Amino acid sequence: MNEMDFSHTKRFDPAMPYKRFVRQMSDWYNGGELPGLAGQDLKFVLKLQKDKMRSLGLDTTCKLTTAGSGNSDTGCFSFSDRIFINSITGGNMVMTRSIVDTDNQLTKNTEDICLTAIIQDLKDGTNPSNDMALCCPHCGAPSTLGELQAGCKHCGTHFLMSEMYPTVMNCFINEKYDRDKNAAKNKHDLKVILTASIIPMIAVGIIGNLFTNQGQNIIMSIILGLLGGIFGGGYIGIMIFVFKKLFEVLGLMGRQMRGGGHTASTLIRANKIKQHDPEFSSEYFRDKVMSLFRMAVYSRDATELACCKCRCPEKAADIIEAQLHNFNINSCKIKDMVCDAEVTLFLDCLHYKEGKVVSKTDKFRMHMRKRIKSPTELGFSFAAVSCPSCGASFDARNVKACPYCNNAYLHEDHDWIMTDLKCIG
Ligand SMILES: [Zn+2]
Ligand SMILES: [Zn+2]
Repeated sequence: MNEMDFSHTKRFDPAMPYKRFVRQMSDWYNGGELPGLAGQDLKFVLKLQKDKMRSLGLDTTCKLTTAGSGNSDTGCFSFSDRIFINSITGGNMVMTRSIVDTDNQLTKNTEDICLTAIIQDLKDGTNPSNDMALCCPHCGAPSTLGELQAGCKHCGTHFLMSEMYPTVMNCFINEKYDRDKNAAKNKHDLKVILTASIIPMIAVGIIGNLFTNQGQNIIMSIILGLLGGIFGGGYIGIMIFVFKKLFEVLGLMGRQMRGGGHTASTLIRANKIKQHDPEFSSEYFRDKVMSLFRMAVYSRDATELACCKCRCPEKAADIIEAQLHNFNINSCKIKDMVCDAEVTLFLDCLHYKEGKVVSKTDKFRMHMRKRIKSPTELGFSFAAVSCPSCGASFDARNVKACPYCNNAYLHEDHDWIMTDLKCIG
């Protein structure tokens, strides 16, 4: 494909890649096949997660169907740098998922969810440099854009620019409503409340009738008391049920609002970082925070990851799925051009504990560090970096020095790394 074709065909609409990605995520849940559209970091996170589940003997089956009209609410927001544009694309879906171990089904539920994908594409008219470090989309080997167009050194595959973009940088699933759990709970609540209100009303009705209507026949009094009890008690019961549901909805709203109180201060701190790093964005930072958290939690040993300078806390060790609900930047200190940021993560997690899968809301405090000397690059991944000393491209996820020239590779010079992680509730 030549440059002319490239500019003709490149009218970026995230709806199509989004639909493809949803199908690929469903395949990943079912068989573990990594989504072809996922960028290297997301592929790495999904691989670690699947490996962790397999090592625990767990497997999932999942059905994702588009909810309602079938239209995803796409392209609502995007952020860009010199080269890339990232579109935050979300759609409402119904997800039926079950988690099984070797002989038992541990959970099965149907939920209304929102699946959000951060889809990255080249900006119209931009041409990234041929030296840009990039992973081979086929074999994952670290390479550069120019090399991949000429044919990957490892697997020989040739790529066109249109085959390398768009990619999905990150993906979030937010549960909105658990249908099965809710239906079962409603049925149970209604039964309990009706029983609790009808039985005493019947007793009151019968006793009342027997004592007040002396002249009436006893059987008639009992029947009238019974009917009065059923209707009166039923009416009161339904009123109580409606009130209870109203309060539960308010409680659910409270859960949805977690972490929302600090949005303004988070934006102020994001702005402070932005003054030093003009291409910093809180969306990009949030994706990085979540990628690092997931890598640390899903990997066998977080300290093996070069982008992680701390251990995975014990309370996070049994997490088999972590979804971001909200995040706050609590503080950021910039000293000698090194930025240390402290963030709070509000998460919805699945834990695998003593043979059971439990869903929980979790809160973590995380410390992040990056040297602010060059602007953040949206497409950057430690999976393919170019050595600042010799220019060779290599995978820096598990090494501290360039394998070609042996010069130390300082991860915090190039992207955010995690320096501390604690569970705080
Ligand atoms: Zn390759
Ligand atoms: Zn080198």
